[in-house]
Amino acid sequence: MICTPKKREAGPTNNWMTPEEGYRRAGEILKNSMRGRTMYVIPFSMGPLGSPFSKIGVELTDSIYVVLNMRIMTRMGKAVLDHLERTNGEFTRCLHGKAELDVNRRLILHFPEDNTIWSVGSGYGGNVLLGKKCLSLRIGSYLGQQEGWLAEHMLIMGVENPSGYIGYIAAAFPSACGKTNLAMLLPPEGLKRKGYRIWTVGDDIAWMRIDTDGKLWAVNPEYGLFGVAPGTSSKTNPNFVKAIQRNTIYTNVLLKKDKTAWWEGGDPPVPAEGIDWQGRPWKPGQIEESGEPKLGAHPNARFTVPILQCPSVSNRLEHHHGVPISAIIFGGRRAQVAPLIYEAFNWQHGVFMGATMASERTAAQVGKLGEVRRDPMAMLPFCGYNMGDYFAHWLKLGRKMTATPKIFNVNWFRRDEKGEFLWPGFGENLRVLEWIISRCRGEVDAVETPIGNVPHENDIDMTGLRIPRENLKKLFAISKKDWQQELDGVQKFFNGFGKDLPPELWKEFRALKKRLEI
Ligand code: GDP
Ligand code: MN
Repeated sequence: MICTPKKREAGPTNNWMTPEEGYRRAGEILKNSMRGRTMYVIPFSMGPLGSPFSKIGVELTDSIYVVLNMRIMTRMGKAVLDHLERTNGEFTRCLHGKAELDVNRRLILHFPEDNTIWSVGSGYGGNVLLGKKCLSLRIGSYLGQQEGWLAEHMLIMGVENPSGYIGYIAAAFPSACGKTNLAMLLPPEGLKRKGYRIWTVGDDIAWMRIDTDGKLWAVNPEYGLFGVAPGTSSKTNPNFVKAIQRNTIYTNVLLKKDKTAWWEGGDPPVPAEGIDWQGRPWKPGQIEESGEPKLGAHPNARFTVPILQCPSVSNRLEHHHGVPISAIIFGGRRAQVAPLIYEAFNWQHGVFMGATMASERTAAQVGKLGEVRRDPMAMLPFCGYNMGDYFAHWLKLGRKMTATPKIFNVNWFRRDEKGEFLWPGFGENLRVLEWIISRCRGEVDAVETPIGNVPHENDIDMTGLRIPRENLKKLFAISKKDWQQELDGVQKFFNGFGKDLPPELWKEFRALKKRLEI
């Protein structure tokens, strides 16, 4: 819930309540709920402590899980309190109570105008580690609008090319669409030999500001990684597996006899026995009453680990001003329609691309799996104010920069008629990033299409990658008919904002429509 006096301030894409109602309803559930429990006070800093761009929070909680995980995910402790005393004392007031852990008595409330977050009745990371989605994105985006910066659901990574130049990229994909994997990508053999390296700055959240040079700079406000365990293995994400060998908290995984952890899709061998995520004895091959295989780990089992333990971590993590952003990437899961990569003609067109982003639903979202839904800038569940005003804020910041980052859209998830992925993804995505950086440095031209610029046929390095030529054709195919249909969906989506949608976006809509008619 976004709790503001007027519904318009929360906008058409948020759940809304008045602050009075929010405080009253949560207050009723919280009342006496901590009796007999230990209350912890957690002072924490989002961003390097002492940076003018960082924000401080203090979370009260009755959960030791929250305390230990906040110690990994944020910079926390006495140094933060000392700092608070030396400054103007401004901080986000965060309150969390487990109460009964009853889904019907659960409220996650944001009060942007009071710089306050109340969370009651949940024990799940995203709802209780209040520095993450609640502060860094929902309250952060509101503060960003007030103070002239951007809080975004983006990974930040550096791509080092063979000459040693590092281009920094920020990328927004909806949850479970590959941010963490891309942020710590392992270069494929050929590109590694050429001299490419990847530097991880952040895997989930970017705070971006215009610095004194008039360009966009980004910091990762977090200090840890909150990863999904199932599917993480030395094959899918070797850097992550190396990171989680120590100082790691595992949640809802399978406990093996030797007291280490395992999960479906983890490194072999599959253990012969263990304790499952619900505390029951487990053996491989068992079937639930529902007929589904009995899982050792919950599909959303997680681990938290200090980001400094990631082998590819960037040495710019502690820099108070962060890193200069050359490119912003939007993307999602699209089985059809969207090509592997295309580039916006300019900032305003790029904002339109972000505002019209869509993705197929994954297990991370409520609703029908596979259904296409609009998720502008991957911020649908995280924007703390009216999304129409948010688009206007993006447009305004673009006008303030001396040079704007280039904006791109990627789709690693396009499929053929048989439903197979057309693109191998993961480490091979570096081939696309290489083109993006070359575009940012003005080293290659592109082909203009109605939806944006795409690479010339030979400008994506395919050495060592065997993909049938017709697959490449399909990856880059742009069907006018599909895109006209896409525009029908965009029109409906835009109409939902009424007069709050910036006219520039309707202008981009009409321009694209016209380009598709030719
Ligand atoms: P995040 O929630 O955005 O950080 O996404 P993750 O990086 O955790 O990835 C979510 C899921 O997408 C995992 O199952 C990954 O294996 C899968 N995934 C990530 N990158 C790619 C890719 O390039 N291609 C394909 N096909 N799947 C990917
Ligand atoms: Mn992630």
